[in-house]
Amino acid sequence: MAFGKPIAEFGLIKAKIGEMAIRIYAVESMIYRSAGMVSAAVSEPGGDKTKQAMQVLEEYAIESSISKVVGSETVDYCVDEGVQIFGGYGFHEDYPVARAYRDSRVNRIFEGTNEINRMLIIQMLMKRAMAGIVPLIPAAMKLADEVLAGPSFEEAPTGAFAEEERSLAQAKKVFLLAAGTAVQKYREHLADHQEIVASLANIAMDVYAMESSLRRAQKSSAKRGESASVMVDAARAFIYDAMDRVEKEARTALAATADGDALTTQLAVLRRFAKHAPLDTISIRRRVAEAVLAQDRYPFEGR
Ligand SMILES: Cc1cc2nc3c(=O)[nH]c(=O)nc-3n(C[C@H](O)[C@H](O)[C@H](O)COP(=O)(O)OP(=O)(O)OC[C@H]3O[C@@H](n4cnc5c(N)ncnc54)[C@H](O)[C@@H]3O)c2cc1C
Repeated sequence: MAFGKPIAEFGLIKAKIGEMAIRIYAVESMIYRSAGMVSAAVSEPGGDKTKQAMQVLEEYAIESSISKVVGSETVDYCVDEGVQIFGGYGFHEDYPVARAYRDSRVNRIFEGTNEINRMLIIQMLMKRAMAGIVPLIPAAMKLADEVLAGPSFEEAPTGAFAEEERSLAQAKKVFLLAAGTAVQKYREHLADHQEIVASLANIAMDVYAMESSLRRAQKSSAKRGESASVMVDAARAFIYDAMDRVEKEARTALAATADGDALTTQLAVLRRFAKHAPLDTISIRRRVAEAVLAQDRYPFEGR
């Protein structure tokens, strides 16, 4: 209670509760998706099960690194906001949130520090692109043609999730733009430019989280209709904010890679790709927080 009402009734507390649930939703969607793919691949009929499991884990190493980094940073974000919601009590060891705060911190350090995992995500992705396992090179060539041709309104997504589908497709283009420019300039020395690599990794992680959040919300919406509306809200808010982060990371990487007229052109292309319709994320966070408070728990588990 504060000023005669429960703190959960304050907008800023609702914003924290809503954002925590939205971020957990995104990372949970990503982990369900990765774990589902690993589990399906491991259970495929085959000879040597141990060898097969090792091969599958190697195949999904990028998704694993992404899940490790996003998962550990999400838990840190949530416990930090948890301490804040408890106010002074959050600082006292008498309250469980103080221990959660202390214990969560190590997750960004062990199992490969998040810095090293960020480097690995891009290193592995580039290696697979060069080997033709991940079709990034043809996608980058197609993108270069599109950039030269100017804006196109062909094949614009339609339907209830049109804006989110568009954002996802555009975020992938932003990654190709920033990564392609960096690879062209630094080639085999890209790994020496760790800050650029980290920006590329941040974009890749957000793209994976955007896609995982969207696919789960679409599935749930098709299955449960209106009762999935809060989950749809969570996916929309996550994708909207992720698009802003993706644009910022790409701007940082491009500014460290190009200059002069080339940079001006790249930034104009980036602005075109990153444009997205406004969304009232304050109202969305409030609605998500209401769902948390009504159920007295994280509201999307198992859905
Ligand atoms: C509670 C706990 C349990 C653990 N359990 C285990 C366990 O069961 N098994 C096990 O093998 N290990 C375990 N560890 C060790 C853990 O894996 C290491 O602490 C972790 O890998 C980081 O290595 P380091 O401590 O040597 O830090 P360092 O490698 O010295 O890193 C220090 C800082 O420099 C950064 N850094 C290092 N290299 C680079 C680089 N090339 N580029 C950019 N930045 C870099 C790191 O990201 C970090 O921020 C545990 C650690 C803790 C705290």
